[in-house]
Amino acid sequence: MHPNLGPEPLAEGFSLQFPDDVCANCGTRSEVFVAEQDTRVTRLLPLGGSSAAFALPVPTCLHCADSLSRPPMSWGGKLAITALLAGACAAVLTFAIPDGPGAGLAARHPWVVSSLVGLVLSWVWFRRHRAEAPQSSFYQPVRIRRLQRQRLGGTILALHFGFTNKAYRLAFARANREAIRAGHVGAADA
Ligand SMILES: [Zn+2]
Repeated sequence: MHPNLGPEPLAEGFSLQFPDDVCANCGTRSEVFVAEQDTRVTRLLPLGGSSAAFALPVPTCLHCADSLSRPPMSWGGKLAITALLAGACAAVLTFAIPDGPGAGLAARHPWVVSSLVGLVLSWVWFRRHRAEAPQSSFYQPVRIRRLQRQRLGGTILALHFGFTNKAYRLAFARANREAIRAGHVGAADA
């Protein structure tokens, strides 16, 4: 089946289908519907880089529907959040605690204390943004790990997907056996 995945041009004969009877995140088969997952692939290169956007028809249950709008977070993003929380603590400590004798540990070592508080806060933040069983991810359950373009024209020749739910990955691999054999499509664990 030639899919409609948004504005990116797909190569002639490109065939791909997403099994639509099982939630791609938690794997349930009850009350599953198909929703559009806005999936971006950004490649950073020393000279510019490239970006591609796809609208993937991903099956989800009501419980997991919100995860489709949460792009996965990179290590850089996690580090940035931790730094931001630590920085906010440092600012609060610097302005809220008066200088002078007896101001305590926080005043004498604001960076040490704010780093520790920042770490604790980010630990709490990441715990709140965790998948709840039986969900496989808090974030988008289908990722694009790699794409291959024609050098001229930019037509998409191959898409390699990553799946957070193993059962869904297997269902996807079964449904796209031909395309995987032909090398148009790849399926791996996210
Ligand atoms: Zn689900």
